[in-house]
Amino acid sequence: MADIKIPAEFIPEDGRFGCGPSKIRPAQLAAFATEGAALMGTSHRQAPVKNLVKRVQEGLLELFHNPTGYEIVLGNGGSTAFWDAAAFSLVERKAQNLVHGEFGAKFATALTNPWLEKPTVINGEPGSRLELRAEAGVDSYAYAQNETSTGVATPVTRVAGADAGALMFTDATSAAGGIDFDANQTDVYYFAPQKNFASDGGLWVSLMSPAAVERAERIAASDRYIPEFLSVKTAIDNSRLNQTLNTPAIATLFLLAEQIDWMNANGGLAWADSRTRAASAHLYDWAESSKFATPFVSNPDHRSQVVVTIDFDESVDAAAVAKVLRANSIVDTDPYRKLGRNQLRVATFTATELADVQKLTGAIDYVVSQLG
Ligand SMILES: *Cc1c(COP(=O)(O)O)cnc(C)c1O
Repeated sequence: MADIKIPAEFIPEDGRFGCGPSKIRPAQLAAFATEGAALMGTSHRQAPVKNLVKRVQEGLLELFHNPTGYEIVLGNGGSTAFWDAAAFSLVERKAQNLVHGEFGAKFATALTNPWLEKPTVINGEPGSRLELRAEAGVDSYAYAQNETSTGVATPVTRVAGADAGALMFTDATSAAGGIDFDANQTDVYYFAPQKNFASDGGLWVSLMSPAAVERAERIAASDRYIPEFLSVKTAIDNSRLNQTLNTPAIATLFLLAEQIDWMNANGGLAWADSRTRAASAHLYDWAESSKFATPFVSNPDHRSQVVVTIDFDESVDAAAVAKVLRANSIVDTDPYRKLGRNQLRVATFTATELADVQKLTGAIDYVVSQLG
């Protein structure tokens, strides 16, 4: 079975379809080999690396349409560390979490702790979408813009009727840089760079509104215990100096900066959005017309344009298909491990070429015909 050889016409130029780590463009790596390499092994407290951080911050503000007063804050530890940082530093008393899968659930767990009231959790069936709702006493509303474990997307909008001063938290880890949005509809838009930003993991980045910065400052000044690594106030202070609290991965910052500049040079977030929309539409259309595949997310309005989940009927073993694809250098199409469905999951991040997604569906059809 694994010795099925997929014809060259169906082999993508780049066979990386994982949801993070994900495809890094050859041009980023080529730039890294020269300009990036010159920064490696040099101090993050000196101008060359601080200028790189500044390039990332300014580039992201431009990409996100320069929302007035917002700033880019960053720190080490990826989005998972940011959940704990938010729990210590940003949620005041009680949150409401909209959960459509694993990642949304993890933030709800981080907010279930001894110093906060138990969050209200709105739990949707995997593959569908519910909505946040105004609730008295809730100061923080949280959801994932793209739930990477299921491929469900949620629009970036404020909760109408929320208490004055309530903040919106958008887990944009796999959406940022691939889906256009209005930053004024959120306060804390956080992500990590190994998805649409085609970089490596280990960093968190957060676009923060003035209200979110004010909240972080107020909680930092209170008597709540906050570990320094998880202090968003400390991260804000360092970010304003184009630094991180502790040593960052310079290569991650460099690859991120290259991807942001590439997006801005080509038309920004609207352009990135149109690319991911076209690539994902090809997959959804293919699945809709396939004899053995169907989009897992049945409501087209809930479907993600950056992570496409496709169920196979029982006549086809998706794991066997993924295995043959992998043996032919088409990698990481496996479903989210805990979802436990007979499906493939394909990232259509901004770096991914539509032509490669078209080859991928050709490759899947070929493999299924051979597995028979
Ligand atoms: C990948 C992902 C995360 C986890 O990111 P890490 O940087 O590995 O901690 C969190 N949320 C979403 C929506 C993701 O896609």
